[in-house]
Formats: sequence, structure tokens, C-alpha cells
Amino acid sequence: MRYYEVAPTKIIRANANTFTYASNTALSVGAFVMIPVGKQTLLGVVMKEVARPEYATKEISELLNIQALPVQLIQTAEWMSNYYHTHLATVFQTILPRGLTKNRRIKQRQQHTHERDRTHFLLNKKQQAALDILGKTSFGTALLHGVTGSGKTTVYIEYAKQVIAQDKSVIVLVPEIALTSQLVAEFQQHFPDVVLAHSKQTEAERHTSWLAVANSTAPQVIIGPRSALFLPLRSIGTIIIDEAHEPSYKQDQAPRYSALRVAGVLAKLHEGIVIQGTATPLVSEYFLAKENNRPVIELPERARADAIAPEITLVDMTKRSSFVGHRFLSDELLTKIQTSLDAGEQVLIFHNRRGSASTTLCENCGWSATCPRCFIPLTLHSDAHELRCHICAYTEKVPTSCPVCHETDIIHKGIGTKLVESEIRRLFSNKKIMRFDGDTESTETIEHNYQALYSGEAEIIIGTQVVAKGLDLPKLSTVGVVQADAGLSLPDFSSSERTFQLLAQVIGRVGRSSRPTNVVIQSYQPNNPAVQYGIEQDYDAFYKETLTTRRQSNFPPFTHLLKLTCTYKTEAAAIRNSKELAKHIRTRYPDVSVLGPTPAFYERQRDTFRWQITVKSAKRARLLAIIGDIPGQYWQYDIDPMNLL
Ligand SMILES: [Zn+2]
Ligand SMILES: [Zn+2]
Repeated sequence: MRYYEVAPTKIIRANANTFTYASNTALSVGAFVMIPVGKQTLLGVVMKEVARPEYATKEISELLNIQALPVQLIQTAEWMSNYYHTHLATVFQTILPRGLTKNRRIKQRQQHTHERDRTHFLLNKKQQAALDILGKTSFGTALLHGVTGSGKTTVYIEYAKQVIAQDKSVIVLVPEIALTSQLVAEFQQHFPDVVLAHSKQTEAERHTSWLAVANSTAPQVIIGPRSALFLPLRSIGTIIIDEAHEPSYKQDQAPRYSALRVAGVLAKLHEGIVIQGTATPLVSEYFLAKENNRPVIELPERARADAIAPEITLVDMTKRSSFVGHRFLSDELLTKIQTSLDAGEQVLIFHNRRGSASTTLCENCGWSATCPRCFIPLTLHSDAHELRCHICAYTEKVPTSCPVCHETDIIHKGIGTKLVESEIRRLFSNKKIMRFDGDTESTETIEHNYQALYSGEAEIIIGTQVVAKGLDLPKLSTVGVVQADAGLSLPDFSSSERTFQLLAQVIGRVGRSSRPTNVVIQSYQPNNPAVQYGIEQDYDAFYKETLTTRRQSNFPPFTHLLKLTCTYKTEAAAIRNSKELAKHIRTRYPDVSVLGPTPAFYERQRDTFRWQITVKSAKRARLLAIIGDIPGQYWQYDIDPMNLL
């Protein structure tokens, strides 16, 4: 008899990840087995062989005829379970396709291993230099910081060819496959066998493509969202993370993992490298790269030599003289829209959907109300006539005059997306107008309507985050940003960073060719660093400024964060329990800093009340200890959250 620790893929006991079973045949680590648990038989994964235990053990019921998981994936699963304080069964539920025990017929995939693509791009100097650095990088993470249109994809493809030539696989992570059709098409030109993973796949499709990867011996190129990390590849040479700043790389349900961190661990186990490609690296990641002497590769120029940068105009929304024709669409913007439409060209109007929280600001000088401790915007609670910090619970009375210029022009503003749309429709009623929103359904709509967008049939496009991303429209000549500071009103430490990223992206929609283009950016806070540096596309200046603020307010990368959120049926229960937990943490862990409790930004969801506590600690291990100490059921935890909303 041999003995093995087996991890069931369903939680049996909260405090036990594995159980010991006996087997009369030798099993490999990663093998899939059926195990008896009480009266049921469950799917389990063999974790390791152990000595004969003192206690009696049951026997494994069956060894399944499925290729064992690569040992690197097993180790990554264990790492995720520890690092995110999540039960191993929950991690396996994330990693493995559903319906693994079902029998499915696998389509034999055509292997093109012998007809490798020998064509090469003509790289410009910067791209060649980038490739040289990647070639010399043998482990860890490289940051590819390239402006929009700098030709990052070309570098990815050329590097991927080198990796495949060494018989190793390539994973390309993308935020959402529907918005990256261009990247996918370019890869498919060079690698005929690209495996696409995406969120619209059915359970059966996902399962069969998982099995095909598991049974394949040839190196593969995989393109997909963060879950593509978990395809059972034998040997990974590189993991390329495109648009590495995107929030979708953090999973918003347990295990709340960051694909950036998991990719780092997985690549290390495979002795491969991670490439984080983006025009706007996350401030925390850029800081980490510098601290750890990781390669930071700069691609500061557009790849097309004849590309003309757009003409950017900034309109100060506090100057009412710029708004003669309309109360929030400036004369400048309306003129540019009309000129483009008259020339038969396209217009894109961008408005941050989540900016509906109202900012309290001075209409005269642009001053805005922020928390003196957290440096985040205060939220107006008009019933109590006070401003409140949603993170640390600081409050103050609504000021009657501006603390900077002493004028009494204090306003509470937020322009809703619906209002923007109805006004555009009213002003340009004879034009073909299309609106796209930020949720998944609309992602489909963009894909579905791509032809209308691309051909210019849609004359005015109104949209939120989703349109700022992948679109490359040849007829687009004017981009308008209704209120660039809208996202800044969100009470969170990362709002300014998000605003900067979105502005850089939305400006990047034009100026990709030799045609002249325009961008009109309106803002109540034209001097805010996120707006100012976003318009100048000055990442270095924004990075320095943000790092200073994060240091002063003690937010990442200068501390570790834990967000605890409770959900109760009544507000009283939410308040009472969160106060109790905050007190408990303060008493038992005096070395951490506890902020709150406060009502969560999304305070009411369905018929429940949500309150939250934020914990900061220089030691991440302390936060993991606290997670082990919170009452389950009503509380959710997120360690290393991307935001505190
Ligand atoms: Zn003022
Ligand atoms: Zn605060």
C-alpha cells in the first residue's frame, strides 16, 4: 500500500485542505482521483505521497483517465491558497474547468509544429532594443512601458517566436477578448494554432480546450483572460500581460487573486519570464520594478513614423464664458464636433460612468474637498449637511465659502451619463448616434456593432470606460471628454490613477495615422495632476506625484491593505457588528492601523446593508492572521484590494 494526501475539490472541513488516502498502485502528483468522503464520492487531486499514517485510512476509489496536472500548477494552487488565505478546494474550483469528470469527445487539433512562421517584422530601433533586453532576461518580470501605438504587439510576437522555437509555450493575457480582436488577429497571422480562451465559452467548450491543452506535447500559444493562466501547460516560457494596469486582472470573488502576482509565481516555477505591457503601468508595479531592479523597457514613440499627434484643447469648466451655447458642452467642443461631422468624420464622446458621485468643489478656483488624512474626495451627505470620508470616517461641515479663494461658489457636481446622451441626441438629432456602456453585455454590443463603428456609419459614439480601450477607428477625428475629473470624485486612493489611465487611453484613440485629429478635454479641475499629466501623457511626472501622495497618506505601495466588508439585513446589525469587529482587531492586533467602520461606497445592495473596515499593516502576514480571525458568513475579505469602493 502507498499513501497520498489528496485535496478534495469541495470543502469538507474549513480547516483542512487535504486528507490521507491509501492506494495499491503508484500515483503521480497532480493525478485526478475519486475519493470516498462520508457517503459521497468526490473528485480530488493527489498532492503528495506520505508515510503510512498512524490512523486508519480509506482507499482511493478510482484513478481517472485524465492527464495529471503539471506540478507547477499544483504548487501555484498551494501558493494561492496560502497567499490569499483561501481554502484549497476553492482555489481548485477556480483553476479547474467544470464538469471535469464528464466524458467528452476531444477534437483532434491540427498541429502545425513543422511549418513555423519564418517571416519577421521590420522592427524599429526601440522595438529591437526591447527585444534584446527580453532576450537577456532569464527570470522574473520585465515591464514594457510603451505609449499607445508604440508597437508593443510586434515585440510580443517576435519574442513569442523565440520562446516557441525553444519548445516552450506562451500565454498572452488580455483584459477582455472582445476588445482585443486586433491583437488576436495579429497573433493568428503568425501562429496558426492560437488557443483562444474567453468568457463566452460554454462549459463543454472550456473543458474540451482544457483537455486538448493537457494532452498536447507541442508548445502552444494561448490568448485569454486571467483564467488562461490555469490551462495545464507542461512548459511555459513566457506570460505576457497586455494592458497590465487593467482592474480585470484582479478577481473580484474568492480567491481574490491578482493575475500579476499569480503569473509571477507560475512563471518562476516554469523558469520563464513575465512581461507586463502597458502605456500606464500601475504605480505600485512600477515602484516594485524599480525597487527590485527589474528591467523597465521604454517604448516612448509611436511606431508609425508618419503619425500626427492629436491637437489637444483643455477647457476649464469653471470659466462660464466658454459655455455660451450649452451649459456643460463647451463652445470649443461643439465646434469641433460640428466640423468633424461636416467633413463626414466620426466623433467619440467619453464620459466616466462611475463619476456619478458628486464632487464638492469651488466653481471659482477649482478647489475640491478631500480628506486631510486619506487625501481622497469627501462624499456629500446632504441629509446631515456634512462631508464624509468613506474610508476613515472623518467628517466635516459643508463649507459655505472656499477655503482657498474665499468665494462662495461651492457647488456639488456630477453629470450623469444619461444626461450627456440625451443632450447630444437633442443637439444632433439628425445624426446616427450609438452609445456603449461599461458592462459585459455592452462589450458584446461593441463586437456586434464593430462594422458600423469601423465604417463610420456611426457618426457619434458615446461611451464610458469600454470605448476608451481597444478601438482603432480610421474615421475618428474628434474625441471629447465631458468631465475629465468625474472619476476623481470617487472616494478611493486609486481614483486619480484610474483617471490618468483612462485619459491616456481615450487620447490614444486618435493620432494613430497621418490625418490630423482633435481632442477636447473639459474639466472642473484642470490643474489636478491626474488631469494635467493625463493630457500631457507624462507618466513620469504623474508617477512621482502619486508616489508622494501615497507615501503621505500611507497607501500602497507603502503599506499592505485588507478590506473587510460585511453584509447584513438591517443597518443596525451592520453597524453593531462592524464596530465590534473593529474593536476586536484594534485590541488584539495593536500594531496594525484600523480605519472605520464606515458605510461601504455601495452601501445598499439588494435588500442588504454593507459596512466596511480597512486595515493597514507594514507586514502582510499580520493581515492574513486577521483574516483567520474574522467571523465567516457575514464578512468578506479582500487582501491587496485594487480599490476601497
Ligand atoms: Zn475657490
Ligand atoms: Zn479619510
